Amino acid sequence: RAKADGRGTFCFFRDEMAQTVEARRILELDLRKALANEEFELFYQPLINLKSGKVSTCEALLRWNHPVRGTVSPVDIIPVAEDMGLIVDLGRWILRKACVECMKWPGAVSVAVNFSPQQFHQRDVLSEVRYALEVSGLPAHRLEIEITESSLLHNTQLTHDVLSQLRTLGVRISLDDFGTGYSSLSYLHNFPLQKVKIDRSFLEGIDSDRPLTLLRGVARLSADLGMSVVVEGIETNEQLELISADGAVTEAQGYLFSRPVPATRIRQLLNASHGHRRPD
Ligand code: C2E
Ligand code: MG
Ligand code: MG
Ligand code: MG
Repeated sequence: RAKADGRGTFCFFRDEMAQTVEARRILELDLRKALANEEFELFYQPLINLKSGKVSTCEALLRWNHPVRGTVSPVDIIPVAEDMGLIVDLGRWILRKACVECMKWPGAVSVAVNFSPQQFHQRDVLSEVRYALEVSGLPAHRLEIEITESSLLHNTQLTHDVLSQLRTLGVRISLDDFGTGYSSLSYLHNFPLQKVKIDRSFLEGIDSDRPLTLLRGVARLSADLGMSVVVEGIETNEQLELISADGAVTEAQGYLFSRPVPATRIRQLLNASHGHRRPD
């Protein structure tokens, strides 16, 4: 009886594993076709400058319009694309698309593009960026590259060189999701970074004193080091007031201002709020 149960469990487990492997295989096949079939789309979410109240930057966020499954989240796409080595091709498409789109916005607005570690560490990352700027015509100062702490894990000369060269080119580097991952405060002064995005997990339980103290500390430190400071995931006016209080935070991003929206929508929003109307 026990033996039969045990085997049953094993079989069930094996079936489930087979299903997972099969599902993953199908996902990979679909992903390979998706780029050629133009099933990817970029949504954009604004970052608001707290002093001017205007949009400073819009972050490009990947969406996959799967013919059967509907919209697939980047959280489900990016890790698989990384495993498959597809992230370099996909990342190239994202970068170029985002630069082209930014050219349609009022000139004061920048675009932020997320880079995964593999993409950031590819050998010709500099020429990739240079090329994207060249073909789109976008000035370098309107491009922001978001990397995460995992891209900085290898504290090598090469990592430093790439960051310095990108800075020399004129693009900004923004450290995304700060406070998750390995969170070494030393990253903030060891690497040439222009912006820090404090992860929205810092906002959890913001009414109890401790998390706010932590957020304010990181914000103050980053500001003192000369960096712009963004808090992501602002959903309420109360949160906005709390993070605005001491002036260290320069920008805010979150559902309170806007969810990520399609390209046509962000263009309308920007043209309306920046008082420009471009003929289409
Ligand atoms: P991220 O770069 O930290 O982007 C912020 C995520 O938080 C986005 O989720 C955004 O929709 C969500 N968010 C923004 N405001 C709020 C808020 O007020 N409340 C809540 N609950 N969430 C908010 P999304 O679009 O699902 O992207 C998830 C992650 O996937 C991104 O986190 C980024 O790490 C990755 N990702 C997205 N697009 C790309 C891409 O083009 N390339 C790469 N390498 N990664 C990407
Ligand atoms: Mg990001
Ligand atoms: Mg982020
Ligand atoms: Mg995040």
